[in-house]
Amino acid sequence: MRAWAVGRPGPVDTGPLVRVDRELPGPGPGQLRVDVTCCGVCRTDLHLAEGDLAPRRPLVVPGHEVVGRVAALGPGTGRFAVGDRVGVAWLGGTDGSCRFCRRGDENLCTAPVFTGWDVDGGYAEACLVDERFAHRLPDGVDDEHAAPLLCAGLIGYRALRLADVPPGGVLGVYGFGGSAHLTAQVALAQGLRVHVLTRGEHNRALARRLGADSVGDARDPPPEPLDGAVLFAPAGDLVPVALRALDRGGTLAVAGIWLSDVPPLVYADELFQERRLRSVTANTRRDAEEFLTLAARLGVRATTVPYPVDEAPRALADLAHGRFGGAAVLHAR
Ligand SMILES: [Zn+2]
Ligand SMILES: [Zn+2]
Repeated sequence: MRAWAVGRPGPVDTGPLVRVDRELPGPGPGQLRVDVTCCGVCRTDLHLAEGDLAPRRPLVVPGHEVVGRVAALGPGTGRFAVGDRVGVAWLGGTDGSCRFCRRGDENLCTAPVFTGWDVDGGYAEACLVDERFAHRLPDGVDDEHAAPLLCAGLIGYRALRLADVPPGGVLGVYGFGGSAHLTAQVALAQGLRVHVLTRGEHNRALARRLGADSVGDARDPPPEPLDGAVLFAPAGDLVPVALRALDRGGTLAVAGIWLSDVPPLVYADELFQERRLRSVTANTRRDAEEFLTLAARLGVRATTVPYPVDEAPRALADLAHGRFGGAAVLHAR
């Protein structure tokens, strides 16, 4: 089968993705083979291709917002039948036995398997998944619109929860791409006031269209103090900016897996008064189940930009250069 792999990581315009030809993978015990129909393009794929995240395996196939149909069942499987629609997300496996798994925080597992980093992902015609980590997808959302829910939506949802905004409170959203535009829809549907602080006309226009209460520049203060904020832009220099915009007791959650360096913080202005700063790491399967159900109920809809999978490098470059608003999705067939 044809697939894309991360060759030599480097700036996206130097062509870090290379074409590879692989055997169609056969599912091992507990695994499913999924024939990919769509795979979302996540900023993490870009960090991996550009080398911000060190590859954990040479020539790994990226892609962890995978939607497809179960095509083959490995020995000992039983949750799905051939033909079922499933989603494959970033968390592709855990040891189930470390202290974090045992206490219900499997997102912090000390021996995790990440799709598209430790094992091959969805920039391909097919991929394998441990059936315990495959997700059922809500009816009424087509493959293209389901794909971005699987990381952008899911991680944004976890970040929103960790930002801990009280009912009816005020949320700040820094950066407005694939993840933020889904998170903002959840927050607005839950009755929060949402201020979007971002650059880029595509992103701002999308924020306005989705009903944000205000849209401004990340460097400018929001129109009112924030009860909580999520930093989606991978820019560490926005951490003190966002902390200053928080009200007393507010929380800033950093949603990205990679962030440029955070400058020194000024305790009195940026942390005192019980402001909190926390990161968000992967997701649990429970987060996924909760979010996918909620997204269907609230009618959260991804704004997508389709690309044929053959044009994956162009999709990544367009993401790097901010050439679209919303989320890019590769179509495998
Ligand atoms: Zn574990
Ligand atoms: Zn992702």
